[in-house]
Amino acid sequence: MTADFDVVVVGAGFAGLYALQRLRGLGFSVRVYDRAAGVGGTWYWNRYPGARCDVESLAYSYSFDSDLEREWNWTERYAAQPEILAYLNHVADRFDLRRDIRLETTVASAAFAEAAEGWVVETDPGGTVTARFLILATGCLSDAQTPALPGLDTFGGDCYHTAHWPQEGVDFSGKRVAVIGTGSSGIQSIPIIAAEAEHTYVLQRTPNFSVPAHNAPLDPAVLRATQQNYGELRQKIRESPLYLPVVYDDRATMAVPENEFRALLEERWNGGGLTLVAMYADQLLSLDAAERVGRIVKEKIRAKVDDPVVAERLIPTTYPFGTKRLCLDSGYFETFNRDDVTLVDLRQTPITGIVPSGIVTTDGTIEVDVIVFATGFDAMTGSILRIPITGRDGLTMRDKWAGGPITYLGLAVGGFPNLFLVTGPGSPSVLSNMVPSIEQHVDWIADCLVHLDGARRGLIEATAEAEREWTDQVRALGEMTIFPMGNSWYMGRNIEGKPEGFMPFAGGTVLYRQICEDVARSGYRGFNLAVPATRGSRSGSS
Ligand code: FAD
Ligand code: NAP
Repeated sequence: MTADFDVVVVGAGFAGLYALQRLRGLGFSVRVYDRAAGVGGTWYWNRYPGARCDVESLAYSYSFDSDLEREWNWTERYAAQPEILAYLNHVADRFDLRRDIRLETTVASAAFAEAAEGWVVETDPGGTVTARFLILATGCLSDAQTPALPGLDTFGGDCYHTAHWPQEGVDFSGKRVAVIGTGSSGIQSIPIIAAEAEHTYVLQRTPNFSVPAHNAPLDPAVLRATQQNYGELRQKIRESPLYLPVVYDDRATMAVPENEFRALLEERWNGGGLTLVAMYADQLLSLDAAERVGRIVKEKIRAKVDDPVVAERLIPTTYPFGTKRLCLDSGYFETFNRDDVTLVDLRQTPITGIVPSGIVTTDGTIEVDVIVFATGFDAMTGSILRIPITGRDGLTMRDKWAGGPITYLGLAVGGFPNLFLVTGPGSPSVLSNMVPSIEQHVDWIADCLVHLDGARRGLIEATAEAEREWTDQVRALGEMTIFPMGNSWYMGRNIEGKPEGFMPFAGGTVLYRQICEDVARSGYRGFNLAVPATRGSRSGSS
C-alpha cells in the first residue's frame, strides 16, 4: 500500500508530541491528530484551579534532548498546569512539530484494510487518510466521566468537569459551590475554590489518602545543578521501579524497628510527594505493611482537622494505603476547618438527583450556584474504546476487550496489525512517572519500525499465544499485590459495567523495560513479522 503517511498518531500530549519528534527524525512521514484546540493533552484539558503535577517538575519532563533540559527553567517544585502546558507548547515550537499536527480533529474510526495492509483512518473534520502504522497516544486519563445524575439537565446554575475546564477560568466569588469527588483533582482544587467561593460543599463518597506536596518555588541552585548534570537524575529515575528519583529500603516493612520506620516515614512526609508509597519494596505486596504506613498517615490527617467528627469522615477506612492513587495536596484537610466549607458524606446521605436549585441527597437539597464534577475518567481503556477500531476479519477492539484489555506488553493487540498503544493497559503506565514511561514506549516503537523497514517486513502483529501469556502474567502480578483491595480506577471499578481487573503491569518499570528490550533483541519474539503482499515504500512527506 502506498499510504498517505507512514504513521498516524492519535493524540498530541506528551506521548503524541514525542512520537512525532522521534519518528519524523527517523525519516517517517507522520500526521498527528488531536480533538483539542491546542497541544498538551492532559495539560491542555485540565485547567482547574490548583492543577499541577504530582511528580517533581525536574523529573516529570522529557529526557530526549539535552539542550531542552538545559534551557527550560521550571519555576516550582511541582509545576502548575499553565507552566507544563507552556513547556509542551515550547516543545512543539522548538522542534517545529506543529506543521504535522491537525488540531480540533477527532479520529472518528480506524480500520485495518486487509487488501492494502494498512490503516484507514476517518477524521472529523477532514475525511479519510491512510497510514501503514497507527499509534494510539490517546491518554490513560483523558476520557472524562460525568455521572448521569437524574435531573442534571434541569440544573439552573453552571456545571464544570475538572478535565474540561474553560480556558477563561471560572469566577467563584460570591457563589455557593458543590464539588463532587475527592480524588486528586478534587483534592487539588477544593482549597482554592473554597478560598474564593461564598460557601463550598464537598461531596465525598470515598475518603482519600493525601500527603502534603510541600510545593515551593524551585531553588535556582537546585535547578542549575540539575541542568548541569541532568544525566545523574535521569539515571536515578531509570533505576527506580516507578521511574521516580527515589530509593527503596530493601527490608520487609514489618521487620523494620519502630524508631527507624517512624524516622523514614517522617522524612518522606516532610519531604513531600509520592515517595511515601515507595518506602519499602513490599509496601504494596503486604497488607500489614500498607496498614503500618496508613495508620500513621491517618494520625496525621486527624491532627489537621479541628472537628473530630469531620476528621473521622475524612479518614479512609475501606482500603489500604496505596491501593488507590495517592493524592498530593496543598492545605486540603485544613480547608475543612473553614466555617464556609461543609463536608457532605455521600455514604450516609447519597445523591438522589439534581433540581434547578441544587443537589438533592437523602438529607434534603443542597442549594448551589455551581457544580464542579471532579469525578474522574474511564481510565486506561476509555479513550481507546471510544474510537471504533476494526482489525483483521472485522474484529473490533470493543469485542476483543469485552472481558477486559488484552495486550502484548501493553504495546500491541493481536488481530490489530501495525497498531501500537503508548502506555497501554498491561504496561507499567499509570503506576509510574508517566513521561519516562512514554519515552520508553515511543523509543521501542520507533526502533521496531526501523527494524521492520531494515528487515523488509512491513507488518507486525502480536501472536495470540504471546498476548495471552502476557495478559495472564499481568493479571497474576496484579493479584500478588494488594491493589485489588482498592475500589479504584486501576481496577476499572469506577465505571459501571466495566470489566474488573488490575490493568497496569505491577512488576515495575525496570523489569518491564528489560523484557521489552529482550523482545526486541530476540527479533521481536511473540510477534509475527510479515512482508505485505502489496509492499509500498515509505510514504512521501506531508
Ligand atoms: P494525554 O495527555 O491524555 O493526551 C491524549 C490526547 O489524545 C488528548 O489531548 C486527547 O484530546 C487526544 N485524543 C484522544 N482520543 C482522541 C481521538 N479519538 N481523536 C483525536 N484526539 C484524541 N502523570 C504523572 O506521571 N505525573 C503527574 O504529575 C500527573 N499529573 C496528572 C494530572 C492530571 C490532572 C491528570 C488528569 C493526569 C496526570 N498524570 C500525571 C497522567 C498524565 O495523563 C500523563 O502524565 C501524561 O500527560 C499523558 O500523556 P499522553 O500524551 O499519554 O496522554
Ligand atoms: P478519581 O481519582 O477517579 O476521583 C474521582 C472522584 O469522584 C472520587 O472521589 C469518586 O468517588 C468520585 N465520584 C465519581 N463518581 C461519583 C458519583 N457518581 N457520585 C459521587 N462521587 C463520585 O479522578 P481524579 O481525581 O480526576 O484523578 C484521576 C487520576 O488522574 C489520579 O488518580 C491521578 O493519577 C491523575 N491526577 C493527578 C493529579 C496530580 O496531582 N498531578 C491531579 C489530578 C489527577 P469514589 O472514590 O467513591 O469512586
